[in-house]
Amino acid sequence: MKTSTKNRIKAKERIVLVGVPASPGYAMGLCHTVSTREVSITEENIPEERVATEEQYFLKILNTTTKEINQIKQVTVEKLGTEEARIFEAHLMILKDPTLVNGVLSLIQKEKKSAQWAVHFYVSSLIKQFESHTSALMKERSIDLKDLYHRLMDAFDDTGTVIIDESIKEGVILVAHELNPSTLISLNKDQVLAFATDSGGRTSHVSILARSMELPAVSGLKNVSALVRLGDNLIVDGTGGMIIINPNEADIKKYQEKLEVFKRQQRELFTMRQLEPITRDGKYVTLHANIELVSETDKVLDYGATGVGLYRSEFLFFRKGLPSFEEQVEAYSYILDNLAPHAVTIRTLDVGGDKLISEISLSNEANPFMGWRSIRVCLDHLELFRTQLKALLVANKKGNLRLLLPMISSMEELLSSKEQVKNVIHELEQEGFDCPKVELGVMIEVPAAVILADKLAKEVDFFSIGSNDLIQFTLAVDRTNEKISSMFQPHHPAVLNMIHKTVTAAHREGIPVSVCGEMASDPLSSLLLVGLGVDELSMTPWSIMECKKIIRSINFEEVREIARNVLKMNDTDTINAYLKKKYAQTIIDLGIFSYISNSDFCEISDSPLQQL
Ligand code: PEP
Ligand code: MG
Repeated sequence: MKTSTKNRIKAKERIVLVGVPASPGYAMGLCHTVSTREVSITEENIPEERVATEEQYFLKILNTTTKEINQIKQVTVEKLGTEEARIFEAHLMILKDPTLVNGVLSLIQKEKKSAQWAVHFYVSSLIKQFESHTSALMKERSIDLKDLYHRLMDAFDDTGTVIIDESIKEGVILVAHELNPSTLISLNKDQVLAFATDSGGRTSHVSILARSMELPAVSGLKNVSALVRLGDNLIVDGTGGMIIINPNEADIKKYQEKLEVFKRQQRELFTMRQLEPITRDGKYVTLHANIELVSETDKVLDYGATGVGLYRSEFLFFRKGLPSFEEQVEAYSYILDNLAPHAVTIRTLDVGGDKLISEISLSNEANPFMGWRSIRVCLDHLELFRTQLKALLVANKKGNLRLLLPMISSMEELLSSKEQVKNVIHELEQEGFDCPKVELGVMIEVPAAVILADKLAKEVDFFSIGSNDLIQFTLAVDRTNEKISSMFQPHHPAVLNMIHKTVTAAHREGIPVSVCGEMASDPLSSLLLVGLGVDELSMTPWSIMECKKIIRSINFEEVREIARNVLKMNDTDTINAYLKKKYAQTIIDLGIFSYISNSDFCEISDSPLQQL
């Protein structure tokens, strides 16, 4: 077991923490905290008129970080006692230290440096001074400073990269305050067994990515990063949404058994993958896969999907430097060619929110999910958008591309985007390139798009409902905020009515509707969506087999009736109770309950807490 000076909390106390089940599966291993983060911040000179803004920004970061550490301190006192919470006292003292505050302010005011670079430079220099000190006590303090440094950098934005020590050969469990998708993508997958984070929800993109990578994960644990120490033993229960720090022998035995059962269930499910997704009364429901990585292409047909309902192309941009036109053509061609003649839906760049790329400065917005993101960025950066469109059209040699535009919230955005597509096709044809016909669709994920659905439907070939964002924006519930994760209600009557309205508008114009948000893979939601008339469900590849099992067990006429009844109901609790009464037993009988992460099921399935 690796030890470190950070391993100062001596009590190897068994602690159980419950959070959000972000990605199913189980893992046992040693904890690796993000204290090894390496952050690369580029030096930024600012003009005189930005000095005041950067000063304010720095003071705001100090304030946020102080609040955060105070909270962690409080939790540590409650869980482990005052003695163990001392480390956070030290952090708070450093934050208040006038030398630090004035040192950073002076770099901003006199040297005209950005707040983030000034903090990075000042604190890194302090760390070096402490590290080279002859006194052991002073050296020890550099560890506090490093912890603090990472916390401060996190507060600015999450541009850091988790570096896992090359010498670690076996898999570790990563514990972080927060992880972002680009960080997860950059990790060496063989070294990471699972992860657990303080923040985040089930539809945060890092959770979505974890499911694609088949990496068990629990998010929204609030204070796990403060409670664990490098080298602690951990169990991650991504199915039940909990972790055990320093598990006892009984825990280990139980989870070894669970892991075996999980693997067996997956093998059994796999045998169903080629069965048709047809209801008992003969209704065919298209099941497509969501993919984030080009390397997932091979999984699509293997796991029983008949195409791709969503390729989140922005994941190709999580790297140093933007991908060139040629690199994009290569990536899109790989997916399109390998899956032809099956349809492949590729969504144009949807950056922003919790998907940041360093080449486009999207960070530091007060409300990034509602900020300068997605199609807005593309329409402001036409060279970026047109390069992507051109690459997609060139890659569409076999004519199986469905082009999907994200975050459309007005007719103008749709028409401007269509104009760009038309122009790029025209240019390619002028160059002698023969462009096969391409279907064009829009994501319905902003309430404005639902309200305009009848008009949008006249302009496109298909709709794809992004339930993750549609729920977030309809209910004003940040999908990444663990504090309000219980308010993220897919079965809220407002959300279900939005879906109903979208389907009605689409079918009136004779175009199909897909749901590609996480709702499509939730067992209860999926049958409700079928009842609401959704034509296609698109989900992470490994949920396809489970969904087939459900579809093959239901009657279309019955779920239609259920959906009609649900649309008349006024509140989420009544809807959930009704759905559970009708279908919970069927889902349990199908043996799917071990996958169910919907907390509504905890009373009837074996809630992880009840078992402990
Ligand atoms: C959605 O919002 O439901 C969706 C599929 O898009 P993303 O999760 O990438 O925002
Ligand atoms: Mg979305």
